Amino acid sequence: MNILVTNDDGISSPGLMALAEAMSNIGEVCVLAPDKDWSGRGHVKTLNEPLRIYETKLESGFKAFASNGAPSDCVALGLLGYFSHDFGIVVSGINPAPNLGHDVTYSGTVTAAMEAAIWGVPGIAYSLDSSEKNYHVIDYQSAAIVAEIITNNVLTSGLPRGVLLNVNIPMGIIKGIQITHQGMRVYRDQLEERYDPRGNPYYWIGGDAPTGIPEEGTDIGALDMGFVSLTPLQLDLTSYEMINKLKNWQQDYNFPIHELETRTNGRS
Ligand code: MN
Repeated sequence: MNILVTNDDGISSPGLMALAEAMSNIGEVCVLAPDKDWSGRGHVKTLNEPLRIYETKLESGFKAFASNGAPSDCVALGLLGYFSHDFGIVVSGINPAPNLGHDVTYSGTVTAAMEAAIWGVPGIAYSLDSSEKNYHVIDYQSAAIVAEIITNNVLTSGLPRGVLLNVNIPMGIIKGIQITHQGMRVYRDQLEERYDPRGNPYYWIGGDAPTGIPEEGTDIGALDMGFVSLTPLQLDLTSYEMINKLKNWQQDYNFPIHELETRTNGRS
């Protein structure tokens, strides 16, 4: 079984090393990760720049490959044939901070797993609920064990096409695992205006780290109670509820099809 391991914190992140080690208990591991920190840069497909790959080593001596591309680029490179063999699964992480609620749209960790789902390969994102800013002092060992157990289960049971798993692991004692849905993040971002040495303004999105509403059944609620949160996500972002509302809107408010046709056709 070939396992592709990536992350969004960069090739030198200790969380990546912990995940690669855990995965090597399951199968043949290929590490292909960004050469820099891509945290919070969402789902990227690099179109207008060359992608480079170079061989390197993790701190543990484990053979690895780094790329100038995003986490999702790394997954695409791996799944489209860079290693000349197929992969049974893609795992991403271990991110040192949690990816909860709407975070999944920003997260490089999660979007790497999304890229796997696009190519029809099971993808899992692993994140640790740490607030520690220094990645190198975090203990990833429990999270690595959780990753090994969950990855093994996914390899046995598979995932439906277009589905990925977002796993968040609490620090300290783990009480168990909860299957969850996305909770409500509370972002505390603040726009900061600063000035460069030439007197021109630039902007920084600052503020405190997000909090969240620890509602039962959600990812945030599970972590709050000391459980691993396992959230199945899907690439289909359609609001099915809204489809029916919009259809009614068309009927009830007499959507002006006639106007749409005459105004758009009149343009040619
Ligand atoms: Mn990260």
